[in-house]
Amino acid sequence: MVRSIFSFFAKKKKMARSISYITSTQLLPLHRRPNIAIIDVRDEERNYDGHIAGSLHYASGSFDDRISHLVQNVKDKDTLVFHCALSQVRGPTCARRLVNYLDEKKQDTGIKNIMILERGFNGWEAAGKPVCRCADVPCKGDCA
Ligand SMILES: [Zn+2]
Repeated sequence: MVRSIFSFFAKKKKMARSISYITSTQLLPLHRRPNIAIIDVRDEERNYDGHIAGSLHYASGSFDDRISHLVQNVKDKDTLVFHCALSQVRGPTCARRLVNYLDEKKQDTGIKNIMILERGFNGWEAAGKPVCRCADVPCKGDCA
């Protein structure tokens, strides 16, 4: 038993960065922490549907071209939370691309956790979580 638990952790350590899910309720009390970056990969919807305060915008359509900019931009963060409208396709795809990019580059970043916001921005809004509608780029995160 002890041995199998040990080998489980040993295996886990060797694995590439994994991606986990976080719910809007779990994220709400954390999302303004300075170690967390929320990465919105929606495309033009961000402009008219609002956004999570303080989230960074890296549209999925140009994500690959801006990935090194993103890595640079979050160098003081240890947790990245990706989302799109529903977090079904674009959010998980961009999160996976970042994992692959970091694995390839073997760049020294502080990124420890890569997560996906379950049900995306639409789920966040439907659950009554606060939505920022500022037009600032980037969002300063000081709206409610
Ligand atoms: Zn804003």
